Amino acid sequence: MKIAGEISVLSPIRRLAAAAAAAAPLDSEAFLAHIARRLRRGRSGTAQFSVLCLRIDQVDAVAEALGPLWCEALLGSAASRMAGCLGPHDRVATLGGGRFAVLLDEAAAPPAALAAASRIQRALGAPLLLGGHEVFATASVGVGVAGAGTVNAAELMRDAAAAMAESARRGPGQCSVFEPAMHLHAVERLRLEGALRRALERREFELHYQPIVSTRTGAVTAFEALMRWRHPERGLLPPSAFLAAAEASGVLVPAGRWVLAQACRQAREWGERHPGAAGIAVGVNLSARQLRHPGVVADVEDALAGAGLAANRLHLEITESAIMESGEAAVETLCRLKALGVMLCVDDFGVGYSSLSYLHRFPVDVLKIDRSFIAGLGKVGACGDIVRAVVGLAHGLGMHVVPEGVETSGHLAEVRAMECDFAQGYFFSRALPADEAGALLAAGTRW
Ligand code: C2E
Ligand code: CA
Ligand code: CA
Repeated sequence: MKIAGEISVLSPIRRLAAAAAAAAPLDSEAFLAHIARRLRRGRSGTAQFSVLCLRIDQVDAVAEALGPLWCEALLGSAASRMAGCLGPHDRVATLGGGRFAVLLDEAAAPPAALAAASRIQRALGAPLLLGGHEVFATASVGVGVAGAGTVNAAELMRDAAAAMAESARRGPGQCSVFEPAMHLHAVERLRLEGALRRALERREFELHYQPIVSTRTGAVTAFEALMRWRHPERGLLPPSAFLAAAEASGVLVPAGRWVLAQACRQAREWGERHPGAAGIAVGVNLSARQLRHPGVVADVEDALAGAGLAANRLHLEITESAIMESGEAAVETLCRLKALGVMLCVDDFGVGYSSLSYLHRFPVDVLKIDRSFIAGLGKVGACGDIVRAVVGLAHGLGMHVVPEGVETSGHLAEVRAMECDFAQGYFFSRALPADEAGALLAAGTRW
């Protein structure tokens, strides 16, 4: 009350200056101190409050397209728009990296915090002219509510940040309220990331190889290299147990470099050892992040040269979503990879958001039809029509087709009848350790 009394006697200009200073975003240290004070005040009474953590989803896109100055302009505008949505006792902080935090002094429960978050989203969403481009900003928002169980300011911020990360994973413009499981997952991810880096150093990754078979001759023409992690305690782990964390943490870039080198060496060795398989090819999956990595073309070149493998015996498999995610840059990278002479395969073709326009923008050699279409053959009427149409499209453009997930002789008969060129799936074999895959070649196995 004393403070309010003091301000009321200030001159109008000083009052404005005081208001501006109060509204100026705090830095993270000052913000933590502010939360700590608010927590102390809340303890004696019943008052509770909320903290929002926000990240402007467009910061990277604006920084890349328009440069850091326009990015600063975006963040400055976001800060003032946010401030315009808040009550007199709420505070905004800038945390760096396009992130903000807001203390909502009167939001004692999630509904009030969510209402404030949606007011902020609406304000951010008004078009903003940056460098001649209209930008519509959104934020990934996490909500932490201070209650009886809140230990300290740092923990409250940590929880709101975990909820924000959860929102960001769900896509732009999302808002999540913190739940304890989010913290457990965040800790688990951190642990997994460390373990993955150690796994790479300790050479715990290995490759298993799944045959790809010619539907015409029944012979193995290639193997797809699929990563496994021989975990010291948990045994052999499939990609579903670690790949997302490896991609998110960036470990998949160096690990993928190892996969390329190892798979190329293996293909060369098989070709030398088995005269009947002299031209055996190997398929290697490239992740979205690998595709965006500036060194990817050099990595592929080094792997080929290191193994002494002819470039056309390396098949690079890239999902449509990785191509879409990486935009124009992906098209350029794929053209440079193609110029090395490798084969380019679109993986999981037909699922997810895609655009056929990329098919004529760079030279695709193979479409791998997603296994969901093969699973639907004979069950879901449209699946057969879709596979037939994809074969027509691919052959019209001079590409080969590999249906994935061929699990039965019935599937094989169907994809043969539809003139798919190759096939892959459990009907032939699961992915095998290198020596067992080599034994298939030694035996000259045909289906
Ligand atoms: P993908 O590239 O689509 O690979 C095919 C996946 O389907 C493999 O799973 C394979 O074991 C499985 N599969 C093959 N035939 C059948 C079948 O008939 N029925 C069923 N239900 N499944 C079948 P896996 O080995 O668990 O790999 C999963 C995904 O992990 C791969 O999907 C690929 O996207 C990714 N991956 C694996 N290794 C690497 C790698 O070295 N680098 C990158 N970037 N991704 C990898
Ligand atoms: Ca693949
Ligand atoms: Ca696939």
